[in-house]
Amino acid sequence: MNTIEKFDKHVMHSYGRYPLVMQKGDGRKCTDENGKEYIDFGSGIGVNSLGFCDEKWVDKVCEQVKSLQHTSNYYYTGVQADFAGKLCEMTGYDSVFFCNSGAEANECAIKIARKYSFDKYGKNRHNIITLVNSFHGRTIATLSATGQEVFHNYFFPFVEGFINVEANNIDDLKEKLDDTVCAVMMEYIQGEGGVNVLDKDFVNAVYELCAKKDVLVIADEIQTGVGRTGKFLAGEHFCKKADITTLAKGIAGGIPMGACLTTEKCSNVLSAGTHGSTFGGNPIACAGGLAVLERLSEENFLESVSEKAKTFTEKLSQCSEVKSVSGMGLMIGIELKTKKSADVARKALDKGLLVLTAKNKVRLLPPLTISEQEIGDGLEILIDIMEE
Ligand SMILES: *Cc1c(COP(=O)(O)O)cnc(C)c1O
Repeated sequence: MNTIEKFDKHVMHSYGRYPLVMQKGDGRKCTDENGKEYIDFGSGIGVNSLGFCDEKWVDKVCEQVKSLQHTSNYYYTGVQADFAGKLCEMTGYDSVFFCNSGAEANECAIKIARKYSFDKYGKNRHNIITLVNSFHGRTIATLSATGQEVFHNYFFPFVEGFINVEANNIDDLKEKLDDTVCAVMMEYIQGEGGVNVLDKDFVNAVYELCAKKDVLVIADEIQTGVGRTGKFLAGEHFCKKADITTLAKGIAGGIPMGACLTTEKCSNVLSAGTHGSTFGGNPIACAGGLAVLERLSEENFLESVSEKAKTFTEKLSQCSEVKSVSGMGLMIGIELKTKKSADVARKALDKGLLVLTAKNKVRLLPPLTISEQEIGDGLEILIDIMEE
């Protein structure tokens, strides 16, 4: 039996996998079982923010593994204190709850929003507005929050209390933001939905209407956060700070971690016993997270992300098959004129380049540490395939 046969024998077939057995990563490149090399334009869906096995990240994680790998949340650890402090300092938030994934971070945000409202206004103000075409996770509650009908199958009954508003439709928002609503949850750039950046006017309207009614804004920055767009949070591009921001994916550089950040207003909503997670705030994950934050706070690091993004857009917009390029920073959506994104991704794999797709677009989420040389080499492969 080869690896793929062995794998498929017992691992559930819940993913449409590419026939690639990844063996080793180094920087922005990895190799498969047969020694074939790939340039990485996907970071494992925006997770390996510093690339594969970054030296300082490895050192920090290994040091932690050797001294304390886990303790329950009945006790304190210095590394969680350090990570929380640095994360709040870099984002301007007051408090954080640590968990292990994006869906869990959003679950936490949903619970905070509902309890904040319950504590202050009592029952029947529990609805949360989410946007059509959004993606918020795979648990039952976050699937219910996700504004795409394709996700609302098989697993009935879903969780009540989510109302969908069309992205960028201010009238729709005004009509649905009534006295039953406790929060609006949105991605500034819809990732899985196709790398769609929200209109500034719409984002402004959300904040204005919510402020008037003491409705919380939840920014799902699981994909857009931690430097991905050239700012630490994508909200900074809109000059906005949500009451609650959720992070995951790239936050710990490849170790499972999610975070739910709140302003002071919501800091004490989750009192003792109202929420928890066995692994949340795990010391190894916190150490990985600290290494990521230390790199991102180096001088000019975030500026370099924006500069690299420019190289991508400039080169891509010269390609005859490219209809448009969307996104911000190193979160890039490529709309094609004639080809299918899935076909391009599969061909790229053959040619030694890892890319992602989002709906009909080719999606790129390269490691934030990618070099201009690697961008050039990867784009040469990608553009060749697109122009073929
Ligand atoms: C990936 C993602 C999630 C879900 O994160 P998981 O870690 O897979 O649970 C939620 N929201 C957004 C915007 C995402 O990109």
